[in-house]
Amino acid sequence: MKAPEFAYARAATLDDAFRLKAQHGLDSCWLAGGQSLLASLAFRLSEPTALIDISGIAALQGIMLGDGLVRIGAGTTHASLGASHIVRQHAPLIADAIPHIAHTAIRNRGTIGGSLAYADPAAELPACCVALDATFVLASAAGERRVSAREFFHGVYATALSDAELLTAIELPIQKSGEQHSLEEVTRRSGDYAMAGIAAVITCADAGVTDARLVFFALGDRPVVAINAAAALIGHPLDDAEIDRAALALARDLDPPGDLNGNPATKLHLAQVVLRRALAKLINDRARSAA
Ligand code: FAD
Repeated sequence: MKAPEFAYARAATLDDAFRLKAQHGLDSCWLAGGQSLLASLAFRLSEPTALIDISGIAALQGIMLGDGLVRIGAGTTHASLGASHIVRQHAPLIADAIPHIAHTAIRNRGTIGGSLAYADPAAELPACCVALDATFVLASAAGERRVSAREFFHGVYATALSDAELLTAIELPIQKSGEQHSLEEVTRRSGDYAMAGIAAVITCADAGVTDARLVFFALGDRPVVAINAAAALIGHPLDDAEIDRAALALARDLDPPGDLNGNPATKLHLAQVVLRRALAKLINDRARSAA
C-alpha cells in the first residue's frame, strides 16, 4: 500500500513549528524520526493533511544535567541516549532500555519524543519514564505546561497531548543513593516489540525495601504500575521469599488482554517471569556491590 497524499513543511524553530501548525490545521501532524509515523501512513492507519518536520529544531535536541534533573530534548535520538554519559550515570534505566528498542538503523533516527508521543503500550521508554517519575514538557503557541509521565499515557496510541501541542522535553530526576533499577523483557526475536516487559526502580535501606516502582509494558493499554506487587516488597529485605510474594500479588495488578503473543493467562505468566528476573538482578547487583 502507498501513503496517502500529504503536504510537507520543515520547521526551523519552535515558533516556526507552531506557525506551520496554524497554517496547515490540526489535521496536520509532527514528523520526528518517522520510524513509526511513516509505517502508519503506508498502512493508511492515519491520513494527515500535512507533515510538519520537527527534526531540524535545535531547541528539541540535547541532554543536560542540572537542578537534580536530566533534561532530554524530545528530538534526541535513541542512539544519542544510548551513547550519553549523562544518561548512563544519572538515568541508567534509560541507557539499559535502548539496546532493546528495535535495531540500530531505527535507533539512529527514532526519537524519545516520538516514542512517548506515539504511546505504543509495548514500547520501553514510556514504562521507563513512568518508573522514573518523569515530567514531560508540552508546548503550543499558547504556552507551556508540564505533565507527569503517570498522567500522560491515556491508552493505546493516546496521550495528554492535544493536536496543537508538541512534546519538547523530558525531565528525569537523577538517580538517588540506594536506588537500583532493572529492565527485563521477553521478545520473540531480538529487536521485536516486547511480549511482556518491566521497568523497575527500587530503593533499599538496611532494613529492607523502602520504595518500589514496578511498571509493566505490553501488558495493558498503557504502562501499568503494579501497586500490590510493590506493596508486597516494602518493608522487607529483598530475597527469594519476597520475590515469590510479589509475583503472587501481581495477579491483582494486571489484567492483560490477550493478543497475538498469547492469551491473558500466558501474558500474566510472562509478567511474573520478567518480574522475577528483574528482582533477581537487583539482588545480584546488591550482592556484587557489597562484595
Ligand atoms: P515519528 O515516527 O516521527 O512519530 C511518531 C508519532 O509521534 C507521530 O504521531 C508524530 O506526530 C508524533 N510525534 C513525534 N515527535 C513528537 C513530539 N516531539 N511531540 C508530539 N508528537 C510527536 N519502539 C520501541 O519502543 N521498542 C521496540 O522494540 C521497537 N521496535 C520497532 C521495530 C520496528 C521495525 C520499527 C519500524 C519501529 C520500532 N519501534 C520500537 C518504534 C521506534 O522506537 C520509533 O522510533 C518511535 O516509536 C517513534 O519515534 P520517531 O521519532 O520515529 O517518531
